[in-house]
Amino acid sequence: HAKQQGKNNYQLYSFSRDISSYKKYVLEKDMRKAIVNEDFEMYYQPQVEPGTGIIQGAEALIRWNHEEWGLVSPGEFIPLAEENHLIHNISDWVIKKVCLQLREWRDKDLTLRPIAINLSPIRFFKKGLVELVKQQLELHQIPAKYLEFEITESSLLKSEKGVLSTIAALKELGVKIAIDDFGTGHASMNYLREFQADTIKIDQVFIKSSDGQNKKDRAIVSSILHLAKGLDMKIVAEGVEEYDQLEFLKQKECDLIQGYLFSKPVPAEKFEQMLGTGYLKPTKQKLNKAPDK
Ligand code: C2E
Ligand code: MG
Ligand code: MG
Ligand code: MG
Repeated sequence: HAKQQGKNNYQLYSFSRDISSYKKYVLEKDMRKAIVNEDFEMYYQPQVEPGTGIIQGAEALIRWNHEEWGLVSPGEFIPLAEENHLIHNISDWVIKKVCLQLREWRDKDLTLRPIAINLSPIRFFKKGLVELVKQQLELHQIPAKYLEFEITESSLLKSEKGVLSTIAALKELGVKIAIDDFGTGHASMNYLREFQADTIKIDQVFIKSSDGQNKKDRAIVSSILHLAKGLDMKIVAEGVEEYDQLEFLKQKECDLIQGYLFSKPVPAEKFEQMLGTGYLKPTKQKLNKAPDK
C-alpha cells in the first residue's frame, strides 16, 4: 500500500512540475512581446488613515493579462523577469507608466497622493535609474514628493555601498524611500540608521497572524511602531483584512493602512474614482474570492 501511495505521489509531483515548467516557458517566451503590446497594467492599492479612511497614497502593483493564463500575479513573473533581465524593461515601463498616470490625474484636477513603486534590486543596481526618474518627473512636471520607491529589506543587504549612494541620489531628487516587507529580511537596526528611508512597511505576516501567534505578532508590531515613531519614520501596515487588526493599529497610532479591509488593488480608473471621493470605509471581503481581481 505504501509503495502504491509513493508511486501516486511521484506521479502527482512530476505532473504539476511539468505544468509549472510549461507555464514558465510560455511566460518567458511571451514577456518581451507583452512589454511591446502593453499586456501589462498597473493596479493601485489605496493606503488610508486608520481613523478616517482618508486616502493618503497608493502602492502601484503590476498585473499581466496573458492571453493563455489570464491575470498572472507579479509574484510569478517578476522572479522570471529578474532571471532573464527583462526586469529592466519592465521596471522602466512601470516608472514611466506611473509618472504618466500622475500627470493624467493632475490634469483632471484630482488631489494627487504619493504613489509607491516596487523596485527590483536588480534594476536598483543598474545605472540610469536616477536619471530616468528625474527625466520622467520633469517630462510630466510632477513634483518628486509624489513618488515613493519600495525596496525590500533583503535587497538592502546585498550591496551596502551601491544602495546608499543610489538612495542618496533618489532622495536628492526629492522622491521618498520605503523599506518593504519589514521584519522578514534580517536587516539589523544599523540599517535603519544608515538608510535614509522615509517609510517602513510592516510585512503582512505580522498583521494577519494565526490565533496561536497573535500575541507575539502584536508585540512585534507594537515595537516596530514604537521604533518608527522614535526614528521619525512613517509606518504602513500591509495585509490588513480584519476589523480587530484595524482597531489595534489605530490604537497604536499606525500612520497608514493598506489591505483588503479597505480595498484590493484596483485598476487606474477605479482608483481615480476613489481619489475623487477622497476616503474609503472598511469593508470585510468575502472569503475565497480570487485575489486582486
Ligand atoms: P509587495 O510589494 O509586498 O505588495 C503587497 C502584496 O500584498 C500585493 O500582492 C497586494 O495585492 C497584497 N495584499 C495587499 N493587501 C492584502 C491583504 O489584505 N491580504 C492579502 N492576502 N494580500 C494583500 P501582489 O500585487 O500580488 O504583488 C506581489 C509582489 O510582487 C509585491 O509584494 C512585489 O514584491 C511584487 N511586485 C508587484 N508589482 C511590482 C512591480 O511593479 N515591480 C516589481 N519589481 N515588483 C512588483
Ligand atoms: Mg511593495
Ligand atoms: Mg510588501
Ligand atoms: Mg511582499
